[in-house]
Amino acid sequence: MAEIIDGKAFAADLRASIAVEVATLPYKPGLAVVLVGDDPASKVYVANKARQTVEVGMASFEHTLPADTTQENLLTLVRELNEDPAVHGILVQLPLPQHLNADEIIAAISPDKDVDGLTVVNAGRLAAGLPGLVPCTPLGCLLLLEDRLADMTGLHAVVIGRSNLVGKPIAQLLLQKNCTVTMAHSRTRDLPGLCRTADILVAAVGRPEMVKGQWIKPGATVIDVGINRVPAEGGKTKLVGDVSFQEAAQVAGRITPVPGGVGPMTISCLLRNTLTAAKHREHRT
Ligand code: NDP
Repeated sequence: MAEIIDGKAFAADLRASIAVEVATLPYKPGLAVVLVGDDPASKVYVANKARQTVEVGMASFEHTLPADTTQENLLTLVRELNEDPAVHGILVQLPLPQHLNADEIIAAISPDKDVDGLTVVNAGRLAAGLPGLVPCTPLGCLLLLEDRLADMTGLHAVVIGRSNLVGKPIAQLLLQKNCTVTMAHSRTRDLPGLCRTADILVAAVGRPEMVKGQWIKPGATVIDVGINRVPAEGGKTKLVGDVSFQEAAQVAGRITPVPGGVGPMTISCLLRNTLTAAKHREHRT
């Protein structure tokens, strides 16, 4: 039976260490979160982010705009936040309503305050191996892997999924760790066979329990990024990952559960990025 990687406990420890470091600073790092509309799931995410920001001793600035806000209004807010010295990190909660151009909004965020790591500048820095702000979920995956695998040199990492938000940045981070990285996607041939060659298997697909136990190399480390809501008994719903956990846990050496694996790392990494952005500015001024 695989060792279960407890992302919830790791994320709590990470927040505690961030709080200790924040307490030593002569100023409060500030995180601004922008929410457009009143999507209930997004509201819950934003409230959680705000609560955890305050808990680590940072300042939280929440901006809620109506669902019918214009592109120009949102751009104006982002530009104001770029100029605001109390704000070290800016996050625009995605997805945005259909009528807004998310790419243009993200591009307007100052790369040095882009704590989601989504601007082209930060994606380029990551690809070039330069210091920058790395997307939060991939950073969370890396921290969990670094904690369990002292040296990843030469390991074969297979990343299923090639999104800019998750798959591509995880692959870049694993490459920096000297893994031999293969990126898989919906057009990959013989995905099960490819996965069976992986020492590290990262699933970021969005398909409930797609990765079966037979796809796993014995002893491999499995990182399940997927968050999928599926029907459960009694008309309820439950969360499952992209990996069939019960099967995979019989074969893998280590595995992240869903929930309680990668998910809790994302907000902690957002706070870590805010601290990183604040410290960078301190050094520039
Ligand atoms: P996207 O939909 O942007 O990307 C999914 C990727 O999976 C694509 O590259 C797609 O390939 C690939 N894919 C789809 N179907 C298959 C298939 N049958 N076989 C192989 N590859 C396939 O999703 P995201 O990257 O944004 O998110 C992935 C998952 O991670 C989701 O479940 C999401 O909820 C979760 N997530 C979790 C977070 C967390 O905090 N833990 C944060 C962000 C996301 P192609 O490019 O060819 O279409």
